[in-house]
Amino acid sequence: MRVPGPSDDDRRRAGLCAECACAKRVPSANGPVYFLCERSATDPSYPKYPQLPVLRCAGYQAEQARPLH
Ligand code: SF4
Repeated sequence: MRVPGPSDDDRRRAGLCAECACAKRVPSANGPVYFLCERSATDPSYPKYPQLPVLRCAGYQAEQARPLH
């Protein structure tokens, strides 16, 4: 079983973050979805919550299909 990929809306809003292995999708209680950049934990040049959409990023890493555990 696989985790569903990003929605078309995520891709439009978030750009590269929608499909980056370093991004964590964070839904909020009142609707908007945020994308947390996990690279920010070890590299201060990456903001924790990047300004979207991210159209260019040296840290972008294509996400592999992730199995559900
Ligand atoms: S590395 Fe770049 S593309 Fe990936 S989550 Fe962080 S800001 Fe987004």
